Amino acid sequence: MERVSHFINGFMIDASERVADIFNPSTGAVTRHVGLASQDTVKLAIDAASAAFPAWRNTPPAKRAQVMFRFKGLLEANEERIAQLISEEHGKTLEDAAGELKRGIENVEYACSAPEILKGEYNRNVGPNIDAWSDFQPIGVVAGITPFNFPAMVPLWMFPLAIVCGNTFILKPSERDPSSTTLIAKLLHEAGLPKGVLNVVHGDKQAVDALIDAPEVRALSFVGSTPIAEYIYTEGTKRGKRVQALGGAKNHAVIMPDADLDNAANALMGAAYGSCGERCMAISVAVCVGDQVADALITKLRPLIDTLKVGPGTQNGLDMGPLVTKAHLNKVVGYIEQGVAAGAELVVDGRGIEIPGHPNGFFVGACLFDHVKVEHSIYTDEIFGPVLCVVRVSDLSEAMKLINDHEYGNGTCIFTRDGESARRFCDEIEVGMVGVNVPLPVPVAYHSFGGWKRSLFGDLHAYGPDGVRFYTKRKAITQRWPKAKVQEVSQFAFPSN
Ligand code: NAD
Repeated sequence: MERVSHFINGFMIDASERVADIFNPSTGAVTRHVGLASQDTVKLAIDAASAAFPAWRNTPPAKRAQVMFRFKGLLEANEERIAQLISEEHGKTLEDAAGELKRGIENVEYACSAPEILKGEYNRNVGPNIDAWSDFQPIGVVAGITPFNFPAMVPLWMFPLAIVCGNTFILKPSERDPSSTTLIAKLLHEAGLPKGVLNVVHGDKQAVDALIDAPEVRALSFVGSTPIAEYIYTEGTKRGKRVQALGGAKNHAVIMPDADLDNAANALMGAAYGSCGERCMAISVAVCVGDQVADALITKLRPLIDTLKVGPGTQNGLDMGPLVTKAHLNKVVGYIEQGVAAGAELVVDGRGIEIPGHPNGFFVGACLFDHVKVEHSIYTDEIFGPVLCVVRVSDLSEAMKLINDHEYGNGTCIFTRDGESARRFCDEIEVGMVGVNVPLPVPVAYHSFGGWKRSLFGDLHAYGPDGVRFYTKRKAITQRWPKAKVQEVSQFAFPSN
C-alpha cells in the first residue's frame, strides 16, 4: 500500500517506524499509510532546518519572494490534483477543496510582498547626530502543527510567511489527510526553495512532543482543538518558545427581527453544513431574536436541508461529503443523541442517511435542533459536524450575553438591516472575528486571523501583519556618529532630549 513519506532536506524519507491508516471517508476503506515520525526522524528535520538557516537568513527578501511567485504559479497549475487529494482523504467536496486552496494561495500572494512587509521603521536625528531604526529579523527554526480540516489552507497560513521572513520551517500536518500537504511542500521545492528550508514530518503526539522539546525550535504555530492548543502553548512557553496556538470554536449567528430571512437562511446553510460542519468558523448556533424569527427561520431551513446534495466529496456538484473518520462520526452522532436526551427538539435528523453505493462511508446528514438551552452539551461543546442549534432569545442584549459568556470566541455574525444594532454588536462582542451579514468572516490574507478567549492562546493572530510580527524579532538600533577628533565629556544623567 502507498505510504506518505516525510519530506526532509529536499528528499522523501521513509524511516522504519510506526504507521497510521489513512481512510477514504466516502468508502470507509484504508487507502494509504502514513509514517509516524520517531524522535530520531524529527531530529533529522531539525538538523536540516538548522543547517539551512544561516544562508536563508541572509538571502535577500526579494529573492525569497521570487520563490513564492513561482510557488503560487505551481499551486495554481496543480489545483485539480491538490483538490482531489484533499477530497480523497478529508471527504470535503472538490469545490470546497479548491476554495480552501485559493484562500491558501492568498497567503502566498501576501508573502510575495516580503521586501515591503519587512521594511524596518526608521527615524533620523532622534538626538544630535543619532539615528534610530527597528529591524525585523528572523527567529530561526520554526515549527507548525496543523489540523485535518484544512490540509492545504492552514499550512499555507504559516510556512510561506515564516519562510519569506527568513526562517526555516518544520511542518507537522494532520496524520489523517497528509497527502495534499506533502505535495504542496514538494511544489515549493520545485519553485526553487533551497533544501532544508521547509521540511515536513508526519506523525502524532510523539513527533509534536519532539518539536516542543527541541531547543533549536524557537517558535511554534499551532492550529487545532482547544485542549491540544492549550497543551502546546503551556509546554512551549515553559521552554521559552514563542507560541501562537489557535483552538476550537462555537460560532453563533444572531438573526435580528429586521434581517432578510431568505438571505440569512441561505447563508446559514453554507455556514453550518458546508464541509460537513468541519470548519473552525462554521456557524453551529443560530440565535433567533424572538419566537417569530425562530419559527420563520426553521420553516425556511427545512426545505433547504431536504434538497442538500450529500455524497462522496470527489463527485462533482455536491453540497456536503462525509465526516473525516468513523471515530469522528461516532462522536457527532453521540452529541445528537445527547441533545435529544437533554430535551432539545430534533427538527431534522440526519442520522442514518444512506448514500447509494457507499454503505461504509462516514456519512451523517444535516441536523437541526430547536429549543436548545445553554446547559445542553450540543450548545456548550464544539461538535464539528453538520449540526445547527437554534437558541431563542428576546433581544439583542440577551443574544450578546449568550455569546460573551461562551468559552469560545472565534467567529460570530449578525444578520440585520439596522446599523445601530450592527455597530453595537461589532463594538461589544467578545469574539475575534465578526461578520455583519457575512456568515463566515474569515479575514483576507492581509488582515490576520484569530479568536478570543479559549479559541486562541498567545498574543498574535495568524498570518497577515500579526504573522509578520510573530515570525520576526524586533531589534531596535540606535546609532551615533560623533564628529571626528571632538573631545566628548561623560554624561551621568539619563540621556534625554
Ligand atoms: P487536533 O487538535 O486533534 O489535532 C491538531 C494537530 O495536533 C494535529 O497535527 C495532530 O496530530 C496534533 N495532535 C493531536 N493530538 C495531540 C496530542 N495529544 N499532543 C500533541 N499533538 C497532538 O485537531 P483536529 O481534529 O485535527 O482539527 C479540528 C480542530 O481544529 C477543531 O477543534 C477546530 O475548531 C480546530 N481548528 C481551529 C482553527 C482556528 O483557526 N482556530 C482552524 C482549523 C481548525
